[in-house]
Amino acid sequence: MYQFSQQSVELQQRLQAFMDEHIYPNEAAYAGYLHAADNRWAPVPLMDELKQKARDAGLWNLFIPPSLASFADHDGLSNFDYAPLAELMGRVLWSPEVFNCNAPDTGNMEVLMKYGNEAQQQAWLAPLLAGEIRSSYAMTEPQVASSDATNVELRIERDGDEWVLNGRKWFITNAMYERTRILIVMGKSDPDNPNRHQQQSQVLVPKDTPGLELVRPLTTLGYDDAPLGHAELRFDNVRVPAENILLGEGRGFEIAQGRLGPGRIHHCMRLIGIAQRSLELACARAEQRETFGRKLSQHQSVREDISRCYSEIEMARLLVLKTCARMDEVGAKGAMDLIAASKTSVPLMMQQVIDRCMQMHGAGGLTEDYCMAEGFNYARWCRQADGPDQVHQMALGKMIIKRFTEE
Ligand SMILES: Cc1cc2nc3c(=O)[nH]c(=O)nc-3n(C[C@H](O)[C@H](O)[C@H](O)COP(=O)(O)OP(=O)(O)OC[C@H]3O[C@@H](n4cnc5c(N)ncnc54)[C@H](O)[C@@H]3O)c2cc1C
Repeated sequence: MYQFSQQSVELQQRLQAFMDEHIYPNEAAYAGYLHAADNRWAPVPLMDELKQKARDAGLWNLFIPPSLASFADHDGLSNFDYAPLAELMGRVLWSPEVFNCNAPDTGNMEVLMKYGNEAQQQAWLAPLLAGEIRSSYAMTEPQVASSDATNVELRIERDGDEWVLNGRKWFITNAMYERTRILIVMGKSDPDNPNRHQQQSQVLVPKDTPGLELVRPLTTLGYDDAPLGHAELRFDNVRVPAENILLGEGRGFEIAQGRLGPGRIHHCMRLIGIAQRSLELACARAEQRETFGRKLSQHQSVREDISRCYSEIEMARLLVLKTCARMDEVGAKGAMDLIAASKTSVPLMMQQVIDRCMQMHGAGGLTEDYCMAEGFNYARWCRQADGPDQVHQMALGKMIIKRFTEE
């Protein structure tokens, strides 16, 4: 069986207490504020209060692994030890930001820790680690199939001491958020390079750079995920200094590959949290309501649904923990098979778990009165974000066939 470190166990207890004291009691206030807000992309004042409390409680930047601990004010947490913490945070979809542990900022901070130079880290990483600003990662484009990252077309051209960017992006998480100050943008700096994986570069673009236009916020199944949002963007002769390139010209693909391993698994951890919470609510509900002379919980099909939810959550959690242990042992690259297995099965399984729990809540389950509708949306979009399931299945299938047929 698995055993978390003493540090993780203590943090789990403290995080649980923080959720009970500060997060669950504020869910209605947080939603109410956004409903009444004239500007849905402005920071929610409650978020700042809670962030300060989380910092004071030592529940800050918990995603940072031991290898990057010099950037944290703790010793770093392995993926394995972080998993139960991310699961707890996942129970309330907006809460990861309270602990500075939300996507896509965690992935962006890791990029800056690993690939940023000192000046870039000082300018952007320091305020991100402090939770003062937010960031976006801009790769996907509306006019090309972006699940093949070599398709991206945004042009990054050198002009003297500057890079000039022209093109379009969409589904750029956080870009609507007024607190977001910096975008990591992937585009083509050398489209004629015969090596398709060396045509791309990534550059840092401050959000207020002239020529960068927020075209519109996008929704998924009707949710706008305010205040972070998912934006469509237009780049029209956007100029940034030459030193804003990350790692070096032609190395954008390499950064994209390095960025996504932990991010994908963090989504899985959080989804298990929201599915687990949905199951707990469904059990309580099944005990409270009666139809045809007996409690819902006494109907056979309800028990079957509850048992399926429980089994699938357990399976998902075990797979994620195994993936984490492997990542800690051999790194994200060596654990690509298990990361792909988690990425393609956990969101789908958790979507089905949440759907059953929603059904057991009757019409109310589809409303914002409960966490299921938003959780379902999150699970659904995780089957697309960070690459659609089919692309990961293609890579995983190839790997597995090779593994079992090689002499
Ligand atoms: C809520 C949300 C947030 C997102 N946030 C970001 C972000 O912050 N930054 C960012 O850059 N992007 C973001 N994305 C975009 C996401 O990464 C892309 O949608 C994804 O990579 C797929 O690209 P595409 O939409 O262009 O789909 P396409 O590439 O057009 O693919 C469409 C469909 O084709 C199928 N397909 C593709 N390849 C294969 C194959 N090999 N075999 C079989 N079928 C295949 C799949 O079913 C796929 O869904 C986000 C998406 C969502 C929904």
